[in-house]
Amino acid sequence: DTARAWFLTHVPSVCSFCSVGCSMDINVEQETGRVKRITSNQDTGFNNQLLCARGFFGFEFIESRERLSSPLIRRDGELVEASWDEAIKEIASRLPVYKGSFGAIAGAHCTNEENYLFGKFVRGVMQTNNIDYDTGGGYGVPEKGLRDVFGSDAPTNSFLDVMENAGSVLVIGSNLDVTHPVLAYKLQTAVRRHQIKLIVASPRQVPLEQFASKVIRYREGSEAELLQGIAAIIASRSQVDDGYVSERVEGYEEWLNSVSTITPSNVSRITGVSEVDLLEVADIYATGGTGDLNNKRPSAIFYSTSLTHQPNGELVDYGAAALALLTGNIGVPGGGVMALKMANNSQGAVDMGCAPFLLPGEFRVDDDEARSRLESMWGVEIDPNPGMSLEQMIDAALSGDLKAMYIMGANPVESSYDSDKVRAALSNLSFLVVQDIFLTETAKLADVVLPACSWAEKEGTYTSAERRIQYLHKAIPARGLSVADWGVITQIMQAMGYEVGYRNPKDIFAEITRVVPRYSGITIEDLESEGKEISRRPGKAYRSVAVDNIKRHGVIWTDAPDGNPILYTQTFPIGKAKLMPVVMRTDLPDAAQVYKETLEPSLYVQGTGTITRRCPTLKSLHDNKAADSSLERGRGVGVVRGPHLEMSGYSTGQLTEI
Ligand code: SF4
Repeated sequence: DTARAWFLTHVPSVCSFCSVGCSMDINVEQETGRVKRITSNQDTGFNNQLLCARGFFGFEFIESRERLSSPLIRRDGELVEASWDEAIKEIASRLPVYKGSFGAIAGAHCTNEENYLFGKFVRGVMQTNNIDYDTGGGYGVPEKGLRDVFGSDAPTNSFLDVMENAGSVLVIGSNLDVTHPVLAYKLQTAVRRHQIKLIVASPRQVPLEQFASKVIRYREGSEAELLQGIAAIIASRSQVDDGYVSERVEGYEEWLNSVSTITPSNVSRITGVSEVDLLEVADIYATGGTGDLNNKRPSAIFYSTSLTHQPNGELVDYGAAALALLTGNIGVPGGGVMALKMANNSQGAVDMGCAPFLLPGEFRVDDDEARSRLESMWGVEIDPNPGMSLEQMIDAALSGDLKAMYIMGANPVESSYDSDKVRAALSNLSFLVVQDIFLTETAKLADVVLPACSWAEKEGTYTSAERRIQYLHKAIPARGLSVADWGVITQIMQAMGYEVGYRNPKDIFAEITRVVPRYSGITIEDLESEGKEISRRPGKAYRSVAVDNIKRHGVIWTDAPDGNPILYTQTFPIGKAKLMPVVMRTDLPDAAQVYKETLEPSLYVQGTGTITRRCPTLKSLHDNKAADSSLERGRGVGVVRGPHLEMSGYSTGQLTEI
């Protein structure tokens, strides 16, 4: 099965797996309308031609015979095929009964338009704030953490900014080579090119270590203590940026009191890191790798947000933020706290308000002004009280307090660490609607299953981990009777009496730019233009030399008045940043579950594997023990680069198509 390159139409799109947000072309055979391969272009997107194996081969599921081809309705205990009319009628007639005991889970892989509309449906039509998205691992969006300190949990700088301007980078508790592969590759290149001092802190060996100036191995689960301990050491050695702290930070005195008894020796005892290593890391971070405080460079911190999905996970965020704030590394080029969300559109799901305590734009639901503004725009009333999180919804379903749920593009039965509990909870519901591409373990429990489109069959926007909003074009017609998620929600809202006049996702995006201030003024044309790091405010576009001539670069949203893509250059959403007092636990949490997401995932599997295990090439790469053992040997991004070199040839038509 081969396809000549000249018979293929290249449709611009964005990878739908991880939150790096690589730009790609979907190559479609004109005669058959089938996706034949994925390619990437030089000078296009942040990835600039690089793609990992998931990006190159993660399209093969589109033609899977296992795809849902029509709606299913449960009749006499069995899921049987139904028409769309029947399915929509079933939902529209049954759901209203459950107002007051309804919950919804959005999809981190769905587009911004779909998640926005889903939120509007849940809050406006079903009149509840019981909405969350599955962040992976069966967790909902954390309420505490960077949001307490800065007022938002978004990564503060852009990837390119860190690569170009950082003096040192600390990567903690995260195997970026498999969670965010192209970012890891770029970081590795930047370390060599810009002499960045890379510190890799991990309880287990990770490939990125081979490029590090300093590797520290700490006790599992002690990330928060390590970060806070290093911050305390920096304070005790007078390496704090006093001017920055007095101007931009509050709570410093209380924070100092909370670290008064912390010494390198007790940090060492808790974390297992030697005192010498602690002092060395503190020195590298505080000086940005120069070793000279008078000549310091910026320092950045990277970690996967999954690291915070553990008991008291917010302490990891507090520790990272404390380090950055004390050293004046927030709101500056090359600095920042880059808490990386995992799925391709996790950031977008937060921006669209898919959390029980957040409205679109990351406003809190109990913020009266923001809520009434939204109420008048949507023409509905919104409950001022936060709703239930994903975990709370599961508990409520189990106890019978929640009677109905709608799950769009999520598979909590398989993503959760306690599948049996989630299965029992969902089975206990009176009515469950699941919208997905495959009949997942979650969908098997549903009363109505709706077939959804793949990313290649729809258009819309994704927002990557660095807040970059990018546009994906529809490349092929929908398979079977599948319908894009936004189309399904539109039909259900209309069937339930809420008139919506969206003709396409562009109409929804236009509404988003009116509702969500951080997206205001952005047009689809902006997203497709060249070389702009930010173009939100016309005439004040912030240009970085690094992105000149780069095509399809999207737009990084920002709150900065001058359009600078670096957040908090002048102020924080809460005014001054809040240092949170240190809690040093001696009884460390069991982080084994969390490490399954941050340290142990496979390059060839994403999330629950619903999509990737239906891509034969990825499946065979995953099953290939040699590939796995090369990872264990610490070849690092070589594992990415190996397939990458092959795939570069593949992408330029030099290799036979698989
Ligand atoms: Fe896709 Fe992430 Fe790989 Fe890029 S690094 S190709 S976004 S999975």
